[in-house]
Amino acid sequence: MFLLTESNCYMAMFKQKKKSILRRFISLIIILWLILALSIPALMFGPDKLRFTDTDWDDFSFIPNYNTTEWNVLLDSHSHTKFSDGKLTPRQNILWHIAMGFNAMILTDHNSYRGVEKAREIARNEYDDKIKVFAGIEWATSRCHLTLIFPPHVTTEEYEGVLKFRSYTYTPTDDEIKEVITETKELGGLVGVNHYPLSDRYLLKQPSRMQFYDLGIDFFEILNGKSYDYLSHKFSLDNGLGVLSATDMHVPGPVHS
Ligand SMILES: [Zn+2]
Ligand SMILES: [Zn+2]
Repeated sequence: MFLLTESNCYMAMFKQKKKSILRRFISLIIILWLILALSIPALMFGPDKLRFTDTDWDDFSFIPNYNTTEWNVLLDSHSHTKFSDGKLTPRQNILWHIAMGFNAMILTDHNSYRGVEKAREIARNEYDDKIKVFAGIEWATSRCHLTLIFPPHVTTEEYEGVLKFRSYTYTPTDDEIKEVITETKELGGLVGVNHYPLSDRYLLKQPSRMQFYDLGIDFFEILNGKSYDYLSHKFSLDNGLGVLSATDMHVPGPVHS
């Protein structure tokens, strides 16, 4: 004989509910695994936009229209490779820059120098008559994104030694920012502030333009992709700072800067 007490009833309901939660949880896990399993081939064989090869720019060569007797350098001061969140290898990044008409570039992966030596070696050995590649990094923290640029004589050990903390979530103090700027400049390098308006919108407590000036920066990036930063341009002109433009290329596309 089975006596249906109130507590038995609750127990039965609880067991049923537990089973239903478990069933839903297992279904969710299966769905997540399916999404993950399908996304891998999609990334490998998916739309062209996500896959690039070394021959992609073989048939493309843009000749920019500028006064070549007055100017002889067309520089992209800031772009990325697979060594941070870009889509191209160092070689493909170089080939893309050549195809777009640049004859100088600074490789600036986020918080990483991993592609720099490879890129410099490829450029020196294979494309020396077409493009010069400089060592750089985009120091990306929760306060600001700075481009550090190093001249050719600076060794890997020297530029590697400048940044003690490399993380998007790291919050450097003003003194730590100053130290990085000073050490880069002591090596003969330059430091610039990237996409000031973008960082101002999304990052915590970015120093003001005047504070950056006092910290010793050399330039502001006034064109990032297709975003023009009028205020940083004006500030740089008013205070004798340099200005640079950058594609900030992660995925190859049209060049605006
Ligand atoms: Zn950035
Ligand atoms: Zn960038």
